[in-house]
Amino acid sequence: MADRDGWIWLDGELTPWREAKTHVLTHALHYGSAVFEGERIYEGRVFRLSAHSARLVNSARLLDYDLPWTREQIDDATREVVKANGLAFGYIRPIAWRGSEVMGVSAVGTKVHLAIAPWAQEGRLSVQVKPGGIRVTMAKYRRPSPEVAPGAAKAAGLYIICGIEKDRALKAGFDDALMLDWQGRLAESTGANVFLVLGGKLVTPKVENFLDGITRRAVIGLARKRGWEVEERAVMPQELDDASEVFLCGTAAEIVPVGAIDHRHYQVGPMTRTLMADYAELVRQPDCEGFGESVHFA
Ligand code: PMP
Repeated sequence: MADRDGWIWLDGELTPWREAKTHVLTHALHYGSAVFEGERIYEGRVFRLSAHSARLVNSARLLDYDLPWTREQIDDATREVVKANGLAFGYIRPIAWRGSEVMGVSAVGTKVHLAIAPWAQEGRLSVQVKPGGIRVTMAKYRRPSPEVAPGAAKAAGLYIICGIEKDRALKAGFDDALMLDWQGRLAESTGANVFLVLGGKLVTPKVENFLDGITRRAVIGLARKRGWEVEERAVMPQELDDASEVFLCGTAAEIVPVGAIDHRHYQVGPMTRTLMADYAELVRQPDCEGFGESVHFA
C-alpha cells in the first residue's frame, strides 16, 4: 500500500491517509465480516454512486448487520472524499466492518465501522488491456450455492476463492479466471461479470447467488438501447465453444475483451467494441445516474 498524502473518510471524519488504521483484533480480519464496494470517479463524479451505496447497505444486511449510516449519508460522505482529495478520475473503496470490541465468532457487541478510501487513477484497474483481449482460464473453485453463502453480498469473506483463483491464473500466465456456479453453469470472473455473443445475441449468466454487477446492468441497458437482444439465462461452459465474442465487465475493469479462454480463441468483435465505446461515453455523462436497468435492493 502506498504511503501517501490524502484523505480517507473514517467513521464520520476525514482522516489523513496514514492515520486511517484498525486494530489487529478486528472481527472482520478474523471472521471475514467486512462488506465493501468498488466505485469509479469520472469527471469528478462517481458513476452510479447511489446504486453502489445501496448495495453496500444491502450487503451488510445480508450479513445480518445494519450500517449506522443511510444510503444518502454514504453518498454524501463519498462526494466529500472525492472533493477533499481533488479527484477528477479515480477509484473509491468504501468498506464497512465489525470492530475489535469483542473477540469471538459472534459479532454481537462489536461496533460497525465505515471507511471510504480514494485512489487517483485513470484507465482500467485490476486487469491490463491487451490489443487482442485478455487470456482467461477456468477456475477450480466454484461460486457457492444459496444454501452455503449469501452470494449477492459484496462481502470480504466471499472473495477468498476469487483471490486464490486470480493468483493461480496469474502464476499460470493468464490474466484472470472464470468461475462456475455450484451447479456447473458459468458465473463470473474473480472481479467482473461475463458476456458472450452467441448467434448475434448478447448472452450473460442469469444472476443466482453471485454479484449482479452495476456495470453488467449498465451494459444490458446500453445493448437494449441499441435494439440488441440480450438473454439473461443459465449458460453452460460448453457454450463458450460457440461464442464469437466474450468480454468481462466490472467497475474497475470496465469492459475488457477476452481473447482466449484456455484453448478457445476469440476476436475482439464489433459488439464488444461498440459497447466499450458506449460505456466510455455513458460514464462521462453528468446525468447517467439512473441509466440502464435499475438495481433494486430491499
Ligand atoms: N463479480 C465480482 C466477483 C466482482 O468483484 C465485481 C466487481 N465489483 C463484479 C462482478 C462486477 O460488479 P460491478 O459492475 O458492480 O463492479
